[in-house]
Amino acid sequence: MKLFHLSLLLLVLIFLSLFFSGCFEWAARAESKLPKETALHKTYNYGGKVIIVGAGASGLAAAKVLEQNNIEYLILEATNRYGGRLKKDTSLADFPIDIGAEWLHSAPIALNKLKGKQGEEIDEELIPYHLKNTGTWDGKEYKVSPNWQNNFMYNFMPESKFKETTWYDFVDEHIAKTVKHKIEYNSPVSAIDYSGNNIIVTTKNGDTYEADRVLVTVSIGVLKSNMITFTPEMNKERKRAINSITFHTGIKVVMKFSEKFYPDAVACEVENGEKVFYDIAFKKDAQTNVLGFLCVGDETQKYYKLNSEEEIIASLIGELDQMFDGKATASYSGAYIIEKWGQYEYTQGTWTQAIQEKKSHIKVISPPLNKKVYFAGEIYDTYQQMGVPGAILSGYYAVDKILTDK
Ligand SMILES: Cc1cc2nc3c(=O)[nH]c(=O)nc-3n(C[C@H](O)[C@H](O)[C@H](O)COP(=O)(O)OP(=O)(O)OC[C@H]3O[C@@H](n4cnc5c(N)ncnc54)[C@H](O)[C@@H]3O)c2cc1C
Repeated sequence: MKLFHLSLLLLVLIFLSLFFSGCFEWAARAESKLPKETALHKTYNYGGKVIIVGAGASGLAAAKVLEQNNIEYLILEATNRYGGRLKKDTSLADFPIDIGAEWLHSAPIALNKLKGKQGEEIDEELIPYHLKNTGTWDGKEYKVSPNWQNNFMYNFMPESKFKETTWYDFVDEHIAKTVKHKIEYNSPVSAIDYSGNNIIVTTKNGDTYEADRVLVTVSIGVLKSNMITFTPEMNKERKRAINSITFHTGIKVVMKFSEKFYPDAVACEVENGEKVFYDIAFKKDAQTNVLGFLCVGDETQKYYKLNSEEEIIASLIGELDQMFDGKATASYSGAYIIEKWGQYEYTQGTWTQAIQEKKSHIKVISPPLNKKVYFAGEIYDTYQQMGVPGAILSGYYAVDKILTDK
């Protein structure tokens, strides 16, 4: 019996030491999962025409490969801008703020893969997101978190942020720059008919386009909304798999204060999803105090239900006042940005995480339709990088299939 207890203790100790030494790091960090090379390093000879639906990170990445290989293509984008869930603001603070995707969850070397740079040295200056002062809020009591918890979190998920730039800038500079002239804005695709030899793509405006292959990069939320009619229809199994994938609604808010009364981050208790206040200027060379608020999942409805942006801000300031004895009201500047990502028609939510979904569902939604209509976006990422890196890599992966499928 004593021996049993001893071996159990030993096992627990081994497990803990492996855990704390970072061996069980978040899968997305695993450099080994990154591809050795992407479509950016290959050359293609393809005589057909490709239409890309969506000018987000994945669509732009696929376009970059087509551009490099002089292949005829066009990007149909529903909105009047490119970037999709990447967006930046330069008006609120003395540094650019990502008001869509913000963190790099992958190993820094992933940045080289995304822009097609060889070697280990990255050009970007990154801030390791290793927080020191954090707290928790259960709606009644604010508690300071112990430091070991912050160390543990960083060890488990050692993510980072751009020091002086943004995700938007990264994609703009390394991917969008050479392809943006091929974007047709305000062109929401409403139908894709791939029943004949040529594929016919129709937009809500009534315009039609023909192509040999189509790459659909809209979010899983947009696919769920049935905004795009496919002819022939997708089969039931595929529709079921699409509908079963979690795509949380969400809201992001940025507020400017005259004083920094808050810690690096405050994690708030919610039943389903995430809710966090965090210092956007963390380790940036900044004079402005900007506090971010990110809420994803059911709790978001609490804010969506409010009648105006002013009410949303008043509600958040009220919560902060409870945590920090009225300091939010005392130092609020009146400047804010609100992004209701879950309510935008052409986004419909925040992010999906392929590694958390059933493999069988991913397998069903990933293959092309009749080798004519292909799919890209973070949910189709085969390299488990999540978010923006996942979306970009999925674009390279899909375009390789488009250009090589016989
Ligand atoms: C608030 C928020 C925070 C996030 N934080 C992070 C983070 O910190 N790190 C990270 O890596 N990722 C993060 N993400 C996720 C990341 O932004 C996405 O994974 C990535 O940008 C997805 O790119 P995409 O090309 O797959 O899709 P999208 O960016 O959604 O691009 C799809 C494009 O298709 C267009 N479109 C939609 N419907 C149609 C149509 N019918 N016809 C034509 N065009 C259409 C859209 O307008 C859009 O431009 C965050 C996302 C949000 C919303």
